[in-house]
Amino acid sequence: MRVLIDPERCQGHGRCYSLVPQLFGEDDEGYGRVLVDGRLTEEQEHDAELAVGNCPESAIELHEEA
Ligand code: SF4
Repeated sequence: MRVLIDPERCQGHGRCYSLVPQLFGEDDEGYGRVLVDGRLTEEQEHDAELAVGNCPESAIELHEEA
C-alpha cells in the first residue's frame, strides 16, 4: 500500500499530522503532506488507516500497488 493526500481536497485541518506525525507533516501553509516514500510497512498502514478515518475532507487515500 501507498498513501497519498489529494491536494484538491485537503483543507489543512491538520488532523493527519497531529494524529500520525510519523507519516504526515504540514507544508508552509498548513496543508497535509506525506512524509514517507514508497510502500508502507504493516504498522504504517495501520497508522495511515487511522488518518484516513479522521480526515474530515476524505483527502487521504490508500492505494494498492500495481
Ligand atoms: S486531515 Fe485531511 S484535510 Fe486535514 S491536513 Fe490532513 S489531509 Fe488535509
